[in-house]
Amino acid sequence: MTKPAITRDSVKQLDQEDSMQKYKKEFYQENFHYMDGNSLGLLSQRAEKALTTSLEDWKEHAIEGWTEAEEPWFYMSEKIGRMTAPLIGAEAEEVISTGSITSNLHQLLATFYKPIGKRTKILADELNFPSDIYAMKSQLEWHGLNPDDHLIRVKSEDGSSLSEDNIIKEMDEDVAVLLLPSVLYRSGQVLDMKKITEAAHEHGIIVGFDLAHSIGALPHELNEWGVDFAVWCTYKYLNSGPGGVGGLYVNEKHLGKAPGLAGWFSSNKDKQFDMSHDLMHADTAGAFQIGTPHILSSAPLIGSLELFQEVGIEEVRNKSLKLTRLLMDLLHQELSGLGFQIANPLQDERRGGHVCLIHEEAASICKALKKENVIPDFRSPNVIRLAPIAFYTSFEDVYDVILTLKDIMENEKHKQYKNERGIIA
Ligand SMILES: *Cc1c(COP(=O)(O)O)cnc(C)c1O
Repeated sequence: MTKPAITRDSVKQLDQEDSMQKYKKEFYQENFHYMDGNSLGLLSQRAEKALTTSLEDWKEHAIEGWTEAEEPWFYMSEKIGRMTAPLIGAEAEEVISTGSITSNLHQLLATFYKPIGKRTKILADELNFPSDIYAMKSQLEWHGLNPDDHLIRVKSEDGSSLSEDNIIKEMDEDVAVLLLPSVLYRSGQVLDMKKITEAAHEHGIIVGFDLAHSIGALPHELNEWGVDFAVWCTYKYLNSGPGGVGGLYVNEKHLGKAPGLAGWFSSNKDKQFDMSHDLMHADTAGAFQIGTPHILSSAPLIGSLELFQEVGIEEVRNKSLKLTRLLMDLLHQELSGLGFQIANPLQDERRGGHVCLIHEEAASICKALKKENVIPDFRSPNVIRLAPIAFYTSFEDVYDVILTLKDIMENEKHKQYKNERGIIA
């Protein structure tokens, strides 16, 4: 039996049955179909309100806002940590809101990467995001080690995905720390974090993950899996806004450890204002903060995370999988033979929050999509990422996006643009 054709009526039906549909109107998206929430999530009314509250607190309380604000600034990073913990399967004290992915990586590598004897290498992969690689290389150099022979980058067999078995093959007593993405930023492949963590621990390796493309998109069980540390940003699936403050997780077994990079916000909060020159660091993940928190870039998260608390990450994941499945089914139905290749894993358990399309003319197609008010994401040289977001993308939006893409391809509307990237892509 062949599957019945997908029609506008059938996707409208999906929207009617969708329990998350009511959240769409809480997000600002006037005249476009936004498929780039995996790079910068949209503003919600609640995030806006939380930011306004912090501004009002500043107006009203000035310095007293640190303790008297509606959301006291002194405790905001811890509060956001508590709100984030359920998204990654962590205990509240294992999580803190602070820094950016890259600065948090530096902090946690400075804390956990201690080359000793033979155990001097960092295990990573060749598909990782450049900033993570730069951080790892500079950490090696900081220790006087040459990245050419101390940074192991596991090869991809097909240019899009990694094999856990190939990663595990590289684990030996030379490796001190492993750092991998939870979800690959181009192909959207979900790595088996549990399996990798178990294998690494058998080899005495400390395990870190970069959750940039999984936090807010799918559930994790970091504590249960025993992952040692993790970092993430919040401006992607967590909708905190441009430059929103990131976060980190440190497994409870390491709490109490001194931060590699210390500052006064690493302090035990009761002692911080003693102004001692001897740091008494917090015995929670709060110890891995450095300086004064960026309150105005943190506040939106309080509102945004409220939405995740209400819905629960399981339901977010459930809808996200349906959206990406529909997108792929529609590609088959409407766009076969037009040069697109799906490069993300097809199975649900292996697929993150976006669909990855490869096309020779990806750059010009993305320009044509933007002209038609569809906002995709281009990754050089030939990748189009489309991320329908559970909170604010409807099934009908996905249908419209595919019809727009079909119209562009059939009428060669993209041919009027140069097939090269812009300054930000
Ligand atoms: C988005 C992203 C980053 C960005 O790092 P920042 O320090 O937040 O700018 C780093 N790594 C990965 C894998 C990303 O997807």
